[in-house]
Amino acid sequence: TRRPLIAGNWKMNLDHLQSIAFVQKLAWSLKDAKHDYQTVEAAIFPPFTDLRSVQTLLDADKLELELGAQDLSDNDSGAFTGDISGAFLAKLDVKYVIVGHSERRTIHHESDEIVASKVAAAHRNGLVPVICVGETADDLEKHGPSAVPVAQLKAALETVPADAEIVVAYEPVWAIGSGQAATPEQAEQVCAALRETLAEKLGADQASATRVLYGGSVKAANIATFMREPNVDGALVGGASLDTNEFASIVRYQN
Ligand code: 13P
Repeated sequence: TRRPLIAGNWKMNLDHLQSIAFVQKLAWSLKDAKHDYQTVEAAIFPPFTDLRSVQTLLDADKLELELGAQDLSDNDSGAFTGDISGAFLAKLDVKYVIVGHSERRTIHHESDEIVASKVAAAHRNGLVPVICVGETADDLEKHGPSAVPVAQLKAALETVPADAEIVVAYEPVWAIGSGQAATPEQAEQVCAALRETLAEKLGADQASATRVLYGGSVKAANIATFMREPNVDGALVGGASLDTNEFASIVRYQN
């Protein structure tokens, strides 16, 4: 059985002072749910400039929240102005790193090759990559539901060593920030296809151990419907992760 993962991608929101207040409030919102949030893993993905403050806070208060970063360089050090090394993230007790988010693919023109190379950088530094895949509305119309996400995943898996942990996140571009989530059936169909791809490339054992998340307009009101699907093992939450009560309710979807 796979431990569900609820991941909050803050994107470019909350400066380092705001992040401290936010995490304290979130810890308070989650406190009553201690039991539940031990069965569900919760992780937050703040901007780079917040990571040190948040790490200190999580450490001091022994909060059961995992830390993730939103991106990393495919290089570990050197003349790469503005980039952030996976080695630096590992030093801050960062566990997860998002790779290939559609906003990076679109705004920063990240290709499948760059995504694969970032997945390798994550593993090289002991980080678990959260590999994001997803189709645009146009792709959906032209190629059907699974073709583009499956092709993106295949490319990203090129560099994954045997038994290295990964998380996969299916985020249809048309559902991100639109308020129009995929239906649970749509999410299940693509997540199942992604798991088949994992089985082909990494073997059946690793495919059944790997968590596949759904992301795109997830909120407290719809999370439970996604979690009922057998191949959906959690969620990558954007906008709704910026409200402490809302995010805590998503983590407590079982209640
Ligand atoms: P929203 O939850 O705001 O739709 O964003 C999803 C997302 O992109 C998470 O990475």
